Amino acid sequence: MMKHSLKTTLIVSLVLSLFSSCSKNSLSGKTQLSFLPEKEIQSMSADQYKDFLQKHVVLSPAKDVNAAMVQRVSLKITKAVEKYFKDKNKASVLNGFEWEYNTVRDSAINAWCMPGGKIVVYTGILPVTMNENALAVVIGHEVSHALLQHGNRRMSESMIQQLGGVALSVALSKKPAETQDMFLQAYGIGSTVGFMLPFSRKQELEADRYGLIWAAMAGYDPNEALAFWGRMQNASKGEKPPEFLSTHPSDATRIAKIKTYLPEALTYTARD
Ligand SMILES: [Zn+2]
Repeated sequence: MMKHSLKTTLIVSLVLSLFSSCSKNSLSGKTQLSFLPEKEIQSMSADQYKDFLQKHVVLSPAKDVNAAMVQRVSLKITKAVEKYFKDKNKASVLNGFEWEYNTVRDSAINAWCMPGGKIVVYTGILPVTMNENALAVVIGHEVSHALLQHGNRRMSESMIQQLGGVALSVALSKKPAETQDMFLQAYGIGSTVGFMLPFSRKQELEADRYGLIWAAMAGYDPNEALAFWGRMQNASKGEKPPEFLSTHPSDATRIAKIKTYLPEALTYTARD
């Protein structure tokens, strides 16, 4: 009897906590389950970002042309995002965002943006992006995942499955290693944890759609997304499949969908 009522109480409190943590994403306008407070996620993100950079060779934009390119493109993309929200009187969406962009020397084909705007581009992806337009598409895509809180959702789901939905601060103090692993998996920073969670097809397309808009606003040609995804598919035929594809699964549907998103993105093309 005791056991039953305890179980009921737990279920009720879980449902309540889920219900109360449903919020509207300010970019998509969709109601979403974001179990973890974005502020806490951003604070964890800042620590994980610092930790990641300490363990990698970070290239200086002053000395390395690729790092300079990543900095240049990231700056333009993030300015475009800021303008988009400012024009919509929604600048507060970016509260807690402190953009950082770094290039690390790492042969893995990967790039990501942690919550709060912490971007990393691996040198391994540059032979696939090949040019600034495609790099803008990739960075735009990654920034969109952060804005749409896709990783938060993945992290929340892992926490519910593995730790029964405790608060992030509690999880971090009681099970720091497990919590950090979940974070790294949720955000695609995977080489240390062995496997990474793929974003859903819906999340991928949503990030594509907005990423193309940022690229166009930043003065880049979003059409390059088609060629970029073609090259990424070819890279997957090599010996070591790109890490990028394990978190951002792709197929012919993506390229077909991107074609349908391009006309909208092109209406945002920077004109000066
Ligand atoms: Zn993605």
